[in-house]
Amino acid sequence: MSRHIRRGQIASAAEADGFEIRPRSTRPGTDLKSVPGLLLLLLLLCLLAVTAASARELPATPPVPGGIAFIPLPETYTTDAPRAYYGGRRVLVAQDDGGWVAVVGLSLDTKVGKHWLYLGRPDDKANTIAFTVQDKQYATQSLTITDRRKVEPLAEDLKRIDTETAHMNAVYTRWDERPLGLPAFDLPVPGVQSSPFGLLRIFNGLPRKPHSGLDLAAPTGTPVHAPADGVVADTGDYFFNGNSIFIDHGQGLITLYCHLSEIGVKAGQTVKRGEPIGKVGRTGRATGPHLHWGVSLNGARVDPSLLLNIPVPVEN
Ligand SMILES: [Zn+2]
Repeated sequence: MSRHIRRGQIASAAEADGFEIRPRSTRPGTDLKSVPGLLLLLLLLCLLAVTAASARELPATPPVPGGIAFIPLPETYTTDAPRAYYGGRRVLVAQDDGGWVAVVGLSLDTKVGKHWLYLGRPDDKANTIAFTVQDKQYATQSLTITDRRKVEPLAEDLKRIDTETAHMNAVYTRWDERPLGLPAFDLPVPGVQSSPFGLLRIFNGLPRKPHSGLDLAAPTGTPVHAPADGVVADTGDYFFNGNSIFIDHGQGLITLYCHLSEIGVKAGQTVKRGEPIGKVGRTGRATGPHLHWGVSLNGARVDPSLLLNIPVPVEN
């Protein structure tokens, strides 16, 4: 089973409105019949080399709510990093294989159907690429939480939750203009997935918000490592998330680490891929020690497993 598909397939999955999207391996404009034999052979070899170079794969993730749309941008953009917008927000544009790819986060409440990526300006209707968000059904999970307040918060808790939500939204909408390649994360802890992203959750019989991250089970005290380079955007103790760290990887890509027993970094600190940042715990709303790992793109929480270098380990 391959987690990846070739560029051409991605390009054909996106419909062009303002631009024609063409796979990079099929450049037109060469009349082979007019070239003599040896030269023709050389040309064919060159074309093969170009095809091989452009056959680098983009992640095969269908655009679904909670997913990511990888949208190759038109080749008219050659040198300067193009700006792309979705829902009025800048989106990450990665340089990949000599071209540009918009990496668009789709929140869990994204409507199925046609959506538009805006190029250059957030409102320029003449400069858009359309793409279709497909449906995805997420499973339901029922959990029992012994601390009832974490399921039915008191009035004072609700006040705290509101403040924290506003603060977290401000962190999620940071924009650090850092040139990036296609995001690729290492696993932050050597654990197995105990709860996938997107689950519709029922706590103590009461429906609550869907699971906005990926849970990795690991014993309390297990070191958590930065999955990629970044800057610590914030740390704190949150009502639901417990001790938490946010890392800003640039261009609206923010990761979150929750329920920690220890926070080992400070806001503003630069972290390198693989550097320890804290330790697994069960602070906040948690049924046991685990890392809740969240990934946000253009302000939308998306499935972290979509950006992992390796498939997420699951229990046998
Ligand atoms: Zn979680």
